[in-house]
Amino acid sequence: MKMYTNIPATMLAPCGITCAVCYVHLKEKKPCLGCRGQDASKPEHCRKCKLKDCATSRGVDFCVECPTFPCATIKRLDKSYRQRYQVSLIDNAVRIKTVGAKGHLLEEKERWTCLHCGGIIFLHDQVCSECGKGI
Ligand SMILES: [Zn+2]
Repeated sequence: MKMYTNIPATMLAPCGITCAVCYVHLKEKKPCLGCRGQDASKPEHCRKCKLKDCATSRGVDFCVECPTFPCATIKRLDKSYRQRYQVSLIDNAVRIKTVGAKGHLLEEKERWTCLHCGGIIFLHDQVCSECGKGI
């Protein structure tokens, strides 16, 4: 898939994951519409996500707006993302707080656009969803 001109705001989850670059969004059949989209399109672990439910119940758009940030739950997910994908959700959250969701999505666009073809790079395996080249 080609990179968006502007990544839609719905493609940024409360925890700081950019759904637009997730492999479940980039698959051809029934792509996931993101954390803020309808449950039907989501993988089970995202439907059951504690962080999303927590953010909803506390009335915050992003975990970073919560007084308990960074809580144990997001620290655990952050650690797992740093180890597996070299992506820090806590760093993302701080950028959301610093430059706003829109500003952060522009940075994410830069980070995840394939230099060879302008495709979206999969966050999870760090190769381009269009041409298959790595970053
Ligand atoms: Zn590419």
